[in-house]
Amino acid sequence: MKQTSDVLIVGGGVIGSSIAYYLAKRGQAVTLLERSRLGTEASAAAAGMLGAQSEMADTGPLFQWARHSRAMFPQLSEELKDLTGIDIGLVREGLLNVAFSDEQERELRAREKLQLAAGEQAQWLSAAAAAKLEPALGEATRGALYLPEDGQVEAPRLAAAYAQAARALGAKVQEFAQVQALLKDGSRISGVMTSEGPLWSEQVIVAAGTWSGQLLTGIGIELPMYPVKGECFSVLTPKQELRKTLFTPGCYIVPKAGGRLLVGATMVPHSYDRKVSMAGLAELMDRARQLMPAIGAAEWEKAWSGLRPQTADGLPYIGKVPEYEGLYAACGHYRNGIVLSPITGKVIADQVVGELGTALGVEPWLDAFSPDFSAVSKRVVQQDQSHLSATNGSRKELQSIEAAH
Ligand SMILES: Cc1cc2nc3c(=O)[nH]c(=O)nc-3n(C[C@H](O)[C@H](O)[C@H](O)COP(=O)(O)OP(=O)(O)OC[C@H]3O[C@@H](n4cnc5c(N)ncnc54)[C@H](O)[C@@H]3O)c2cc1C
Repeated sequence: MKQTSDVLIVGGGVIGSSIAYYLAKRGQAVTLLERSRLGTEASAAAAGMLGAQSEMADTGPLFQWARHSRAMFPQLSEELKDLTGIDIGLVREGLLNVAFSDEQERELRAREKLQLAAGEQAQWLSAAAAAKLEPALGEATRGALYLPEDGQVEAPRLAAAYAQAARALGAKVQEFAQVQALLKDGSRISGVMTSEGPLWSEQVIVAAGTWSGQLLTGIGIELPMYPVKGECFSVLTPKQELRKTLFTPGCYIVPKAGGRLLVGATMVPHSYDRKVSMAGLAELMDRARQLMPAIGAAEWEKAWSGLRPQTADGLPYIGKVPEYEGLYAACGHYRNGIVLSPITGKVIADQVVGELGTALGVEPWLDAFSPDFSAVSKRVVQQDQSHLSATNGSRKELQSIEAAH
């Protein structure tokens, strides 16, 4: 018998699972296809920061989407708990974006102005004021930008909760179902070929993280993407020594439940190799001790890595792929897939059911993420005009972060 579904989603990371959840909420017959186990790639490696402000150097589209998405977490957390019993570990203790040099201080003070003007909370603190707010912070800082709204979640639990909630609402979830190719019928998408045989659908969403580009190339769509490996480690402390996330270029320390501290993350572009290197860990350890000297006494727990899905211009691809009727992309979320997961799931679900309204508040920036590279696309226009701050700012941020490693 021909196996059909209203919507097929390729990739069971936080993005594919969020889309499955929001589509299932809209009553769509959804099948989520994952080639291995759900949520075991980038989504399992993530630190879980909801860094709508700490990750953004400007107030362009990525910032706008991230802050709307971050605001969805309190309600989402309740919904997912009700449906699945999983607590995604939402913590709203804020983040200190720490400066160690004049240049970093200048950059963070400029950000404070930009973000206050955009209606967000941000406050530059002297070194003494920052240490008073978070006593675990080292003394040798220039000060810190305090971002009280940048919270965090447990990323692996978030990925699991989305998928389980989607299932509870009627979605089919198939693990160990590798999508080998996208199937088309003229200019319409017609389904996917999996390791288990063909599955048919008039709507297919590619949310396969850093592997999305390869699948799309098979039907002639070029969405430039590459992996950026990130290595992390965690340590255990006998009591809660840190409350706020500490963040500086090249290193962050995220306090998790039970005195666990998560330290990340290196940036190794173009690497599909997930080995954790001594050099990467040594660099992280040095920076972590600079941020929080007492971390040196903590007990080692474990190390891991993941592949961030990055795009050529630093912005994700979210929306309809214009070359094929019924084809959508939701990939390339790079360092921000956790914070952007609710808004991505909601927008794609709204697009699929044809009801993208104005309620979300993020529509004005949707074009910036459109996987449309035709001559009329705003994305192409933005790429070509370097004075437009959004794309340009993200690209500059990427270059500076990558240059630091
Ligand atoms: C070290 C690290 C720290 C991070 N920290 C943060 C953070 O603090 N905050 C934040 O917002 N973001 C963070 N990120 C980024 C975030 O993890 C990613 O942006 C996000 O997980 C991407 O989700 P995804 O679902 O697109 O990709 P993935 O999680 O990689 O999922 C893609 C899935 O698709 C599956 N797949 C691939 N090909 C196929 C196929 N052909 N058929 C079927 N399935 C397929 C894969 O097996 C995988 O499960 C971090 C990333 C890393 C690596």
